[in-house]
Amino acid sequence: MQLRQCPAAEREPWSVIILGATGSIGKSTADVIHGANGAFRVEAVAGGRDPKALACAARDLGASFAALADPGGYAELKEALAGTQIAAAAGEDAVIEAALRPASIVVAAIAGTAGVKPTFAALSAGRVVALANKECLVCAGLAFMRQAAASRATLLPVDSEHNAIFQALGGAPLDTVEKITLTASGGPFWTWTRAAIARATPEQALAHPNWSMGPKVTIDSAGLMNKGLELVEAHHLFNIDPARLSVVIHPQSVVHGLVFFSDGSVTAGLAAPDMKVPIGHCLSFPQRQTTAARRLDLTAIGQLTFERPDFDRFPALRVAIDALRTGQGLPTVMNAANEVAVEAFLSRCIPFYEIARIVEGACDLALAGIGAHEPETIADALEIDREVRARTRLALQPETGAASSLR
Ligand code: MG
Repeated sequence: MQLRQCPAAEREPWSVIILGATGSIGKSTADVIHGANGAFRVEAVAGGRDPKALACAARDLGASFAALADPGGYAELKEALAGTQIAAAAGEDAVIEAALRPASIVVAAIAGTAGVKPTFAALSAGRVVALANKECLVCAGLAFMRQAAASRATLLPVDSEHNAIFQALGGAPLDTVEKITLTASGGPFWTWTRAAIARATPEQALAHPNWSMGPKVTIDSAGLMNKGLELVEAHHLFNIDPARLSVVIHPQSVVHGLVFFSDGSVTAGLAAPDMKVPIGHCLSFPQRQTTAARRLDLTAIGQLTFERPDFDRFPALRVAIDALRTGQGLPTVMNAANEVAVEAFLSRCIPFYEIARIVEGACDLALAGIGAHEPETIADALEIDREVRARTRLALQPETGAASSLR
């Protein structure tokens, strides 16, 4: 990774672009920026489908440019920004334009595959990218890491586990690392029986005990698919082979990631479960800044516990590990099928365990065809993504009678 220059103590504010400004990470980023006493200024914000929320974020942060992904929301965005100097635009190209404006750092926090193109654009321009979107690396990890190297871009991990591991690695050479472990809280169902999880409602799955996150990642967390996606992310980010990656359940969410070195030393990243910690770390890196993040009080917590993951009650994690170990295009397939299945669960069309079964079915189907090769470009990855989504959606329509082929 190429690091940015250490700035002087008295410095100009660093300019920030926030892709996904209206989501959970975007809002936490705004909190960190507000608490940083003018260390940052916001150049541009981008959002998905909510013009009012985007206009509100742009005004609040004093951005110069606001881009909405949904072209149909342009008039409403323009109206909501009337009387300000903030330029407005809408559509996929507008979001890419936002990503490409000059800035010290781009926070890539658009949820889902929608984040792939704008994040890739920022990376291709050689920017420092604080990566909060998991899907970029799960869907197109090879293409992203190659492009980051070619354009001398810097990728900083915002995801709490990867940020903790990045800090715990401390720049150590990879050949001194025996193993990297990501922790998982276990989510709301960790103490539930398999029969109870099978009947879980979206409301129950959305009630995460430790983290406040968007709906997609919260559902992923409830089934431990989130940890599977994070293993793929870690494999690409740290260039470590899947056999040296593991997961432990740690319900307190205090230790986020551990690095086991060849001399027997273990370093770990600890913090209260608050996304302002990794966001603040990325925004200021390689310096540090004060944030209003929750502070860790170990004596108040008393005990830190660690358990093995349970693949019987949480089959999504096993499916994801299999996809990562098989490699080829399976992580791309898994990511696409999972997004469709999670939407279906949130819309009450399928029960909870169908998510993992649909993803596994999509991976099995893909092995002989579109998933047989790891996509080397963004275009290839997005083509696989499109095809798997279409196939999964079709299978989910009961009238097609195709559902059984995916299950
Ligand atoms: Mg995480």
